Amino acid sequence: MASIFTKIIKGEIPCHKVAENDEFLAFLDINPNAWGHTLCIPKKEVDKIFDLDEGTYNGLMQFSRKVALAIEKVVPCNRVGIAVVGLEVPHAHVHLIPINSMSDMDFKNNTARLQEEFAALASELSKKV
Ligand code: 5GP
Repeated sequence: MASIFTKIIKGEIPCHKVAENDEFLAFLDINPNAWGHTLCIPKKEVDKIFDLDEGTYNGLMQFSRKVALAIEKVVPCNRVGIAVVGLEVPHAHVHLIPINSMSDMDFKNNTARLQEEFAALASELSKKV
C-alpha cells in the first residue's frame, strides 16, 4: 500500500508545499514540534533512509540543506535541527526543525496553528528556497 507521503506526492492528500523538484518534495509537518517544522522526502518510496541508493540519499541531503537555509531566513531561531526517525511513516524523510532549545526537538511538543498560518508560512518559505 502506498505510504501517506506517496499520497501527498500524488496530490491525493493535501500538504503545505515548501519546495519541489523532480526527485524531492518539502512540506510543512502537520503536527510540528516547533513552528516551521518541515519534512523533506524523496519521491521514490523507500522506508528506511539508509536504504536509499547513494545518489538519492545525497540528493535528499542537498535538497534538505537548501530548505534549511530558507527556514533560517524566515523563521526566527537559533538554528535548524535535523532528525531522521521514520517510526510513524515508513517513507524516508528528513525532519528540519527550527530550534532555540533542546525541547524544540522533542516529538512530544506540538504547535497548534490555523491552516491559514501554515499556508502563509509555506508560501513565504517557498520564495526563499
Ligand atoms: P516519523 O515517521 O519520523 O516518526 O514521523 C512522521 C512525521 O510525519 C510526524 O512528525 C508527523 O507529524 C508527520 N505526518 C504524518 N502524517 C502527515 C500528513 O498527512 N501530513 C503532514 N504534513 N505530515 C504528516
